[in-house]
Parts: sequence; structure tokens; C-alpha cells
Amino acid sequence: MRVILLGPPGAGKGTQAARLAAKLGVPQVATGDILRMARASDSALGRKVAGYMDRGDLVPDELVNEVALDRLRQKDAARGFVLDGYPRTIDQAKTLQSFLDDKGTKLDAVIKFMVTKDEIVKRLSGRRVCPKCNTVYHMIADPPENDEICDFDGTPLVQREDDKEEAVARRLVEYGAQTRPLYDLYENEAPFIEIDAMGSSDEVFDRLTKALGTLT
Ligand code: ADP
Ligand code: AMP
Repeated sequence: MRVILLGPPGAGKGTQAARLAAKLGVPQVATGDILRMARASDSALGRKVAGYMDRGDLVPDELVNEVALDRLRQKDAARGFVLDGYPRTIDQAKTLQSFLDDKGTKLDAVIKFMVTKDEIVKRLSGRRVCPKCNTVYHMIADPPENDEICDFDGTPLVQREDDKEEAVARRLVEYGAQTRPLYDLYENEAPFIEIDAMGSSDEVFDRLTKALGTLT
């Protein structure tokens, strides 16, 4: 299955993408995770994108398109993927469409996560991540067993630079200006499904799998 998860930052896309990808047996492809890994390894790409990411700006299309398509060309994505955080602009959506057309494949579903602004702020302000294994926690909704320490490797958790107030504000503006227009684009394309993303992670996953189940 080839699925795109769309929604504002903090809507819970990454949380659900990981669960859905495991259930479907396809990779989760998250451009944010790939870019953060590039930064952590201090690669040339990582150095190019660091400033954009920390400010809460989108990384330029040509860089992100290359990163995303490189990942989608890998063998494990041939049978399907759950895209999380890509595409985020019309240019990226068009690039993805040409890639799928060239392969003679198409999207099975585009999912839009619906969540209130108050909830976004709560989710982003409470998000903590393990800098070593990338596990995502929430200090209230999904805390680690021991205070601010990763359950899996004991590494102290950190707050993402772009989850701080100023960057969050910029990311929400970027989302409105650049990503929202994708809804119009996809509304007339392959099954476009709106999911109520409020409530617990289990409740959202249940809605997501039920909605996708109707397609199979
Ligand atoms: P996105 O990938 O859309 O930016 P994440 O999946 O990283 O969002 O979720 C943002 C934060 O909200 C994380 O701290 C995560 O643990 C938390 N979260 C995810 N889903 C829920 C939910 N259904 N209820 C409460 N918190 C959630
Ligand atoms: P995310 O983990 O999806 O919240 O992404 C974190 C940051 O990585 C974003 O705020 C952007 O700076 C960058 N990024 C990730 N995916 C994209 C994308 N598709 N287009 C542009 N920038 C991206």
C-alpha cells in the first residue's frame, strides 16, 4: 500500500506512521527523520539543512525531493510505503507524482489528520525525543518510564530545537502557506480521507486502520 499522511506539525503523523508501517509491512518514510539523521552525522547535507530546520522553515524543495526519492528508490519501498512529512509543497507533490507515474504505480490513500490548534501546541510543547534512537515521547500523553530518559537505551531525552515556541510559530505559518494547498490538489486524486486525530494514539490508530480497511 502507498499512503501519504498529511497534517500540521504535531498532529501525530510520525506516531501513527510508525504503527501503520509496521502493520502493513512497508517502510515509514519520514523526511524529517532522514534530515535529522543527516544533521546528527554532520554530513554535507546535514550542514546545509540545519539552519532551515532550527528556524522552523521548510528545507528547499530540490534538497528534500532528492532525499525523498533516494529513499523511495530503495528496494524495501517497492511494495509500498507510509510517507510522513513529505510532500509538503506543491512542487514536492508534483515530483512525487512523476516518480510514481514513471514506475507505473499510484497512491492508495492520502490521509489528512484533523486536530485543533490547542492540541497541536500541547503535543509539540510536550514532545521529547531520544537523540540516539529517535523514539518520540510526550511528557504527559506518552512519558518514558523514568524521568526524561529513553526507555530503550537510557539516553537523556531532548526537546527538538524546532519545538521551541518561536520555531513552532514559523512552522505553523509555513504549514498554512505551503502545505495546506496540497489538500485541494489531493482532494480530487486517489482516495482522500480525513481522520479525526484528536483523542488517544490508540483511538486514532483505530480510526486510521478502519478507514484504510474500507479500501482493501
Ligand atoms: P508529527 O509527526 O505530526 O509532527 P508526532 O507523531 O511526533 O507528530 O507527535 C507529536 C507529539 O504528540 C509527540 O510528543 C507524540 O508523543 C504526541 N502524540 C502523538 N499522538 C498523540 C495523541 N493521539 N494524543 C496525545 N499525544 C500524542
Ligand atoms: P518533521 O520531523 O516532519 O516535523 O520535519 C522537521 C523539519 O524538517 C521541518 O520543519 C523542515 O525544516 C524539514 N522538513 C522535513 N520534511 C520536509 C519537507 N517535505 N519539505 C521541506 N522541509 C522538510
